[in-house]
Amino acid sequence: MQQNLKVYNSLSSSKEKFDPLNPPYVGMYVCGPTVYSDVHLGNLRSFLSFDVIYRYLEFLGYAVRYVRNITDVGHLENDADEGEDKIAKKAKLENLEPMEVVHKYTQGFHEVARLFNLKRPSIEPSASGHIIEQIDLIQRILDAGFAYEVEGSVYFDVKKYHNKNHYGILSGRVLEDLVSGTRELDRQDEKRSALDFALWKKAAPAHIMRWPSPWSDGFPGWHLECSTMSTKYLGKQFDIHGGGLDLKFPHHECEIAQCVAGYGVSPAKYWMHGNMLTVNGQKMSKSVGNSILPHQLFTGEHPLLDKAYSPMTVRFFMLQTHYRSTLDLSNDALTAAAKGYKKLANGLRIIKQLQYPDNSQQEINQQVDQQINQLCENCYHAMNDDFNTAKTIAHLFNLLKKINSIHNGTMDIGQISSETFTSMKSTFLGFTEQVLGLQEERLMVFDPLLNIVLNSYQEAKERKDYTKVDAIREQLKTQGIVLKDMKTGVDWAYEE
Ligand code: ZN
Repeated sequence: MQQNLKVYNSLSSSKEKFDPLNPPYVGMYVCGPTVYSDVHLGNLRSFLSFDVIYRYLEFLGYAVRYVRNITDVGHLENDADEGEDKIAKKAKLENLEPMEVVHKYTQGFHEVARLFNLKRPSIEPSASGHIIEQIDLIQRILDAGFAYEVEGSVYFDVKKYHNKNHYGILSGRVLEDLVSGTRELDRQDEKRSALDFALWKKAAPAHIMRWPSPWSDGFPGWHLECSTMSTKYLGKQFDIHGGGLDLKFPHHECEIAQCVAGYGVSPAKYWMHGNMLTVNGQKMSKSVGNSILPHQLFTGEHPLLDKAYSPMTVRFFMLQTHYRSTLDLSNDALTAAAKGYKKLANGLRIIKQLQYPDNSQQEINQQVDQQINQLCENCYHAMNDDFNTAKTIAHLFNLLKKINSIHNGTMDIGQISSETFTSMKSTFLGFTEQVLGLQEERLMVFDPLLNIVLNSYQEAKERKDYTKVDAIREQLKTQGIVLKDMKTGVDWAYEE
């Protein structure tokens, strides 16, 4: 099974024409958050990777149906089979109704997603709203002979499935090795093999989250919701299934087994996994004390953080690394990212203001013109190569050099054709804002207020009141704004 997406390489050029009335369709399913705690920074990275994939496919003209679920049925600590219901546990701890827990953390996730500029998925179904469909899939798997019922619980029979199919097709795990690596089952165990996983679990008397079913009052297994909801909204087979690397096994492996057993077909054509996030070279974990939450990054309130970093700085930081590589978070890397992001943000401001002159008489410099067109093409090539955001950013910076040269007068805009200028503008804006989702971070009232300050700066300069001129410069600098005296008047930029 192919795991790295290369299929879109055929779309190597921005010149691809789509019929807007009949755009090619892409179905994409991403395993969403569990809503009994704050969204983890590592998960946020994973959602960001798929956000950019979603954005780029739409940017190319695909009609994308993006489904990202909410896991809210209170699965258990240990692969859905044993342990405590996490939502009920949290409800007791916080003195809330289980659905209050779900609501609180779903809202918290949406707020982080908004700050982080993640586009909303087309459908965001919750597991608790699809119990009937999950019961239906269990029945199909039972009818096909790949599951068995014991005392009101239903388990997937991995060995029986593997006799006719391939359990391990995605993760490359070998069943025989897995068997020898598992513990011996004791007598009370309901499962025939330790590898079998729960499709339905009978609820113990104290278990809060429960629903009626043909087998018992209970709750569905962890892996089942994604198989059910992806099939319901995207069909039995769809294009892309994504999630964090930690979900590849057993979660996604089990999803494939359930779909093959119940629907007779493997669900996704491409499986994509986002790699891990580490902190100062170490895996994030609560016990080490290096587990940082998104809002702690935005406020700087964590012992490991020197200061606060804005959501767009963090977004830029994460996109500087390809989604399949591990990413290490540190103050140094975030500080460098803040600079890089501001450079791009300054580029956005400049290119939005730049206009091509109406009657340019100048001769086109073919070499420069071609160079800029090539830089634009490079952005597409980088994203077409398995959505390489790191390379795309590098190409955008090359384009930015040209934009800055035009802005500061070292390159004449008339050296390039108006078509090339338009392409440069739409590529820089399109890739920065639409594809990478990097926006300027400032308040709506910022521009008019800043104009008032710039006017008094200009006036002070004209009456040669240099004390005032210096004071305004200094004060703006403390707010991260630098003034630039240009031939055309005064301009400003974010301090890089
Ligand atoms: Zn899933």
